[in-house]
Amino acid sequence: MRYWIACLLVFLAGCEQSATPVKPAFDRTNTPIELTVVFHGDLAALQQEYRRTHPNSPHSKVNGLTGFATWNEVKNPGPFPNATLLGNSPATCVVHTTRPRKVDDKSTLVLGHELLHCINGSYHP
Ligand SMILES: [Zn+2]
Repeated sequence: MRYWIACLLVFLAGCEQSATPVKPAFDRTNTPIELTVVFHGDLAALQQEYRRTHPNSPHSKVNGLTGFATWNEVKNPGPFPNATLLGNSPATCVVHTTRPRKVDDKSTLVLGHELLHCINGSYHP
């Protein structure tokens, strides 16, 4: 019985993982980052902030949005890493999500996803 419960837990944890590989635009590992985290009261407020700060983004992208981040990055077709850092300016990042309520809940996962944008920029399509 314990074996089946363990398998079920592994299966459920695996459902949360994506098959999309991480492709860093840059690597700010071991780099100080000025980080601001904004916890919105609910997803509607978060999505309203996204629409306000991204007026040209299609509405379809906002539906289902659970978090977003903004960071300083210059798109550059040059080779990775560090080709896309914004000059010598300090690394800054703002993460928007809802406040985690339970350990490792969905908001915690989103917080980690958005924090990785601060470290690796546009790391996924
Ligand atoms: Zn992302």
